[in-house]
This record gives sequence, structure tokens and C-alpha cells, in this order.
Amino acid sequence: MQEVFNFSAGPATLPKPILENIQQEFLNYNNTGLSVVELSHRSKEFFAIRNSAESLLRELIGISDDYAVLFMHGGASSQFSMLPLNFLSKGQSADYVCTGYWSTKAYAEAKKFADINAINALENGDSYSIRPTVAWELSSNASYVHYCDNETINGIAFAELPDVKSKPLACDMTSSILMRQIDVSRYGLIYAGAQKNLGIAGLCIVIVKKELLNKVNKSIPRLYDYKRCAEESSLVNTPPTFAIYVLRLLLDWVKSEGGVDQMYRRSKENSEWVYQVLDNSQLYNNKVVKEFRSNINISFDIQDKDLQNKFLDQAESHKLLGLRGHNSVGGVRISLYNAMPQAGVQRLVEFMQDFEICNVV
Ligand code: PMP
Repeated sequence: MQEVFNFSAGPATLPKPILENIQQEFLNYNNTGLSVVELSHRSKEFFAIRNSAESLLRELIGISDDYAVLFMHGGASSQFSMLPLNFLSKGQSADYVCTGYWSTKAYAEAKKFADINAINALENGDSYSIRPTVAWELSSNASYVHYCDNETINGIAFAELPDVKSKPLACDMTSSILMRQIDVSRYGLIYAGAQKNLGIAGLCIVIVKKELLNKVNKSIPRLYDYKRCAEESSLVNTPPTFAIYVLRLLLDWVKSEGGVDQMYRRSKENSEWVYQVLDNSQLYNNKVVKEFRSNINISFDIQDKDLQNKFLDQAESHKLLGLRGHNSVGGVRISLYNAMPQAGVQRLVEFMQDFEICNVV
């Protein structure tokens, strides 16, 4: 059978060796006679998995001891509520920078809990771009500034870290974590759902400055409390053990492949390949201004919707899956996470070029 390539935005493709590794040790983890999914979350075997996931993450991203690493439930969306619940008490507010679907969702959720200042930073006319930070009306009393590093649906990314003066930055890095070097010390809090670059759904990683934990509100649900979660090593209740195990395997893989720098080089190369096809095309329309193009999620459309459906159908028959754009915008979306092999990008690029030759007269 021809190899299948999965370009889905998430749950996303995983490296083959990891899937094989999981399969191989699934029934008997490390000679315990138990499957990894049967291990107690308080067993020494699980502790070893959890601790090595944390130390690998610290090493690969460069997270100092000034930050706690939390393993939480509920995906990235649950952080949309946890963040304001933890850090905004009565009368406090925060700035939310809206550049697309997910940052606007985060804003809408936070608004349920506090008086939130929305900053519309998306320039959305014939093309998409992010307004410069000098044009943002930041409020003087914001407890933090929230933004989304890479908008997964439209493929809009920040070219550099926004300058918000002395305010703590809270960042949704769900689709971009582990794909380029970041300076963690510039952030108050970073969160990322795991199902793209950190393994499988069910886990969300939170990296939070320990200093901020003293500001956490007192009366919030136990499971949402960052401070408690840090104090109890993310064992406030049963954590998503299998997802943490897969994370550990994935981080091992990233390290063995050369770490974040290597992931960045590949992602840049792969995305440039695709953008070259888009830039030389009469058929495919990508609206994002070059400076804000995502290396990770590339969205475009074909004006003739019948032809677009034909493109998606033919892509599937070439075993190029997961290319249909998000329901909210339609179109086509190519997701190039760390585990996408070069052979997948090559087949996709060749398919796109052939499709255009056959369908543009
Ligand atoms: N933020 C971003 C940037 C995302 O891409 C997604 C999911 N695609 C989410 C948040 C929501 O993630 P979850 O489904 O894990 O809640």
C-alpha cells in the first residue's frame, strides 16, 4: 500500500518509530507485565516517565527552575478559562490580542470571568497581517497580555515576540511549541495542547513562572488551580498517563533528531517549498502577507469551489489526507508539524503542481 501522509491540523501525524515503539511495548511496559495504560499514576514506573518527560521538555525548550511545568487535562481550550480564573480576581482585567479564531475564542471565554480589553490586531482585508504592537491600545491596568503565537486556522504567525512592555505575556503555543527556539524568560505563562507537536489529545502543557503562582486566586476549582497543580507535581487527580507517556517518547525523538533547531530548519524548508508553489500559482490563493506566514499551517483556497472539491478528492486518492480547511473558513489547509516527513511534502508539492497543470487552461 502506498504510504499515507496526514496533513491534519490535529490530532496530527506522529513519527512512525514512535507508533511502532508504542505498539511493541504496549502489552508489557518495561518488563512490568502491565500495559503502560494500566500503570498506577503513583507507581515508580509512571513517576519515571513523568519526570523524564519534564526534564526533556526543560532541556529542549530551555525552561529554567524559575518556571513550573504542569501536565493538565482538558486540551488548550480549558486554559482559556483557567488563565482568567487563576489570575483575575474581582476588578482586575487583562488584554487579549485577537489575530484569528483561537485568540478570539480565548478572549470570549475570559470575558465570562472578568473585564477584558480586546485588541483587534488582525488586518483583514484583501490580505491578512498583524498590526504592529505600537498600534495596540494596551491598557495600563492589565494583569497580563494574552496572544496566540500561531493561528492554526488561517496560518498567521507572529514574526517576533510582541513587545508589551513590563506586562506578563500569556501565550497559546498549541500549534507552534517545539518548532522554533523561544526565550521562555520573556513569558509569564505558555500553554500548548499536546495533539500537534507534543503527542496525543488529552494533555495540555503549561509552563508558568513560579513567581506568578503566588498571585493565583484562592477559591477556584481544585483541578484548575495552577498553584496546587505545581505543588502536587500535576497529580491533583489521575493525570492523562498515556498522553504523558507518548509525550516522553516524542521528546526523546525530537532530541535524537537534533532538537528544536533542527525542527525549525526542517519546518522552514518544508514550508518554503509549499509557499513557492503557491507564489507561482494562478490557481491557489493564500491571503497571508509574507512576514506573517506560518511555517506550520498553510491555508489557501481555489476560487472555483467545484475545482477545490476535486483537488481535495484527488489529494485523498494520492494518500494525502487531512487537507480540508477548518469548518469556519473552508478552503485547504496544509499542516506541517515536526513529524511530517520530507517525502510527504514532496508528494504534496508534486501533486499540487500536476493538479494545476491539468486544471488551468
Ligand atoms: N489553540 C490553538 C492555537 C489551536 O490550534 C487549538 C486546536 N486546534 C486550540 C487552541 C484548541 O485546542 P483543544 O482542542 O485542545 O482545546
